[in-house]
Amino acid sequence: MKKICVLSGKGGVGKSSITASLAVVLSETRKVITADCDVDASNLALVLGLREKDFKECWEISTNKKATLVEKKCNHCGKCKNSCYFGAIKWNKEKRIPEFDQMKCEGCGACAIVCPTNAIQLVEKKNARICIGRTKFGFEVVSGQLKTGEAGSGKVVAEVKKIAMEKGKKAEILLIDAAAGIGCPVIASVTGSDFVVAVTEPTPSGLSDLKRALSVVKHFGIPFGIVINKHDLNPKIAREIERFAKSQNAEVLSKIPFNESFVEALVELKPIVEFDKKTRWFFEEIIRKIPLG
Ligand code: SF4
Ligand code: SF4
Repeated sequence: MKKICVLSGKGGVGKSSITASLAVVLSETRKVITADCDVDASNLALVLGLREKDFKECWEISTNKKATLVEKKCNHCGKCKNSCYFGAIKWNKEKRIPEFDQMKCEGCGACAIVCPTNAIQLVEKKNARICIGRTKFGFEVVSGQLKTGEAGSGKVVAEVKKIAMEKGKKAEILLIDAAAGIGCPVIASVTGSDFVVAVTEPTPSGLSDLKRALSVVKHFGIPFGIVINKHDLNPKIAREIERFAKSQNAEVLSKIPFNESFVEALVELKPIVEFDKKTRWFFEEIIRKIPLG
């Protein structure tokens, strides 16, 4: 199975739209499975026309533990009071017990270590959801969603990829929609990929974030190519991106012009390649340049 990861240093450059259309075109000739690893803002399934009710299975997973008090074991010594670096402990003066703010607790366990009576326990909390659905194009999407304010996105990404690989045993291509940025979920998305499609737009922040994201890709020694979306909005920076690609021995996989249909397709919950057939050429061009073997 070839693992192709689509990433962007910054959000809003069209990464998920491009991933969805690549999957649609690729699936016409190859067996494909997709993984939505943008777990803080997952929308690949939506772009492919799958609504909540269309998922065939969903289940919750835990990536984090939370401190909880076993009140009968507490001797009210107060040793835990100032032990939390994250400010998750509020001292209840009346009862002389700690109260834990579940949103702030990172599950580090420091409070449990200082407690002399084992009154603080770390309990697993279901804080993420994984769903699987089949698109009308015939391939499946494995989608991960981290609940609001929760930590552990890298673990959710790893789980989504694992399930996609299990479910797609017969698939030739796993297409991964990575999170934006350069943090833990991006590293988890990129790890083990055979090729990275880096999507950017010709703005100063687009170029700067592209360089940052590709520094992660280069660290893992993964070959990559660049897609410049809306290239005609700023030809000067588009040329700068092309020069940057050359300096990295990377190919510009495609230069996609600004097209209002991208937004209209999102509103209609359709991949752009289905909504505006004229865009198909760009996705075929990208696919021709990806080393799929
Ligand atoms: S487990 Fe860590 S983060 Fe959570 S309340 Fe205890 S010290 Fe704070
Ligand atoms: S350290 Fe343990 S025993 Fe002491 S107040 Fe905190 S929870 Fe209670």
